[in-house]
Amino acid sequence: MMHRMRAEYAAGGAPAGVRLWHMVRGGGSVAMCGRELDAAAPAREAVDWGRTSEICCHTCGAYLLREAPWLADEHRPRPPGEERETAWPTG
Ligand SMILES: [Zn+2]
Repeated sequence: MMHRMRAEYAAGGAPAGVRLWHMVRGGGSVAMCGRELDAAAPAREAVDWGRTSEICCHTCGAYLLREAPWLADEHRPRPPGEERETAWPTG
């Protein structure tokens, strides 16, 4: 499932600028949190989630973590040879 970020405008619409970033499934304009967004509002790649100067919708973020946990770098498997020993030292 493709996800994309889409902006919610501040009160006043496009001239007022971006208030919040939501996440939408596919190329839609309905956010994962249920909010209807302007289909012409700016969109960004899902990998920019959390990297914008504007805040990201917390509800969308929670859904996203359930559907696309692989977006986070820390969940990627390490290449062979870089695996760390995670067991507690036993002395
Ligand atoms: Zn949202």
